[in-house]
Amino acid sequence: MQALIFLLCFSLFAAFSPAFGKEVSPPAPSSKPLAPGTQDRFVEGVDLPRKKPDAEPGKPADPMIQRVTEQICNLPSVTFVQRVPIETDNGCGFENVVAVTKVGLKSGDEISFPGPVMITCEFARVVADWIRQDVLPAARNELGMDVTGLLTGPGYQCRRRDNLPDGKLSEHALGKAVDVSGFRLANGDVISVMKDWPEPETAPGKFLRAVHAAACKRFTTVLGPDADPNHEAHFHLDTGCHGKDCTYLICQ
Ligand SMILES: [Zn+2]
Repeated sequence: MQALIFLLCFSLFAAFSPAFGKEVSPPAPSSKPLAPGTQDRFVEGVDLPRKKPDAEPGKPADPMIQRVTEQICNLPSVTFVQRVPIETDNGCGFENVVAVTKVGLKSGDEISFPGPVMITCEFARVVADWIRQDVLPAARNELGMDVTGLLTGPGYQCRRRDNLPDGKLSEHALGKAVDVSGFRLANGDVISVMKDWPEPETAPGKFLRAVHAAACKRFTTVLGPDADPNHEAHFHLDTGCHGKDCTYLICQ
């Protein structure tokens, strides 16, 4: 009962507090759509928030009822848990949520993440393909070794571009982005984006450039240390839509 009351209070707080889910900051001005053809200096994977479906008339949303997803995610040899859709009042959230912990290989080996990565099922498929088809071969080519883990962020984060109050939603807020700061090898060594990217002539530097270039063929946004100082320590990968027909790619 106490938990019920807490949840109810929390939901009310979330519904009426404009600062909920954001960092403490000045009042957010109303968001401005990008002018057609505008290509600002890109900082973070961005996209307009998905339009939320209107609530059914006469049927107020009941936060106590969690809608169980009807979509079933099919990801062969990937270790994940299907989760209920994430819904918020500030545009963050997505359906077909999976929490991925490992990507299995044909050999039976697995490539692990430091913790569950919350992303969409579709995005998880792109990540798994990149790991299996690009990251693993690049590690064997450049380093003569297998990758056993990726150092990633949590995937889903309810935040705006560059954490600005009037920034557009990051693709992280829509479950279509992940950050990768390093790659763990079979011998325990870690190839670090921060430490090894600045050394392009070394094997780790070549490996990082190979996986970055390969990522640009799968994701629509790939930002690394050459993009800006925000990305000196990680690759940001997302599948956001850029341009009118979503064909514009950002690879930096
Ligand atoms: Zn990111």
